[in-house]
Amino acid sequence: MQLVLATHNAHKVEELRRILGAALDGIDLIGYDGPEPVEDGDTFEANALIKARAAHAHTGLPAIADDSGISVDALGGAPGIRSARYAGSRVDRDNLELLLANLGQTDDRAARFFCAAALVADGFEHVELGVWPGTVLREPAGVGGFGYDPIFRPLGLDVSAAELTADEKNAISHRARAFAAIMPVVRARLLPPAG
Ligand code: IMP
Repeated sequence: MQLVLATHNAHKVEELRRILGAALDGIDLIGYDGPEPVEDGDTFEANALIKARAAHAHTGLPAIADDSGISVDALGGAPGIRSARYAGSRVDRDNLELLLANLGQTDDRAARFFCAAALVADGFEHVELGVWPGTVLREPAGVGGFGYDPIFRPLGLDVSAAELTADEKNAISHRARAFAAIMPVVRARLLPPAG
């Protein structure tokens, strides 16, 4: 059974294959090269659904999509759904430095990553939200990961997300949580009942 991942980024297809592992047994996860919709939703969930709907409409196949970002309490939830383009340039380092500058030296540094994962199939839509709580560091640490990882310290750890291995991050991240929640729904929808 084929499942389209609504992204043009081959790296994201590979990353999701690694995150999902056995949850993909019997499912052929494929990329998408159709038109990309305007992501004009107000929430992570709305934007994930917009992307999954577009991929489903174009391919006729069940489609999943995600939308993610970081929300900082002291910034009223910013950058939130604007995380990828916070500084205007879409350059990770610019976004991260703007976030640090806007937060200043405040001690209120609580933040969380969100990931919405959406499934759209014939006559069916479902979305799940994964949350990864933590705090914003005062300066970047680590060279792994991407985006805001060097300034995000996950709750309960004393390293930044950029100091985790890919496997360590993939086991606990907002993306891992969102897809762990949606995969049982995907499997129930796509695969014939066992037995
Ligand atoms: P998306 O590709 O539209 O979901 O945008 C996600 C944006 O949020 C990225 O460009 C990053 O800036 C940020 N982001 C999402 N997930 C992560 C993560 O796991 N680590 C660091 N930054 C992330």
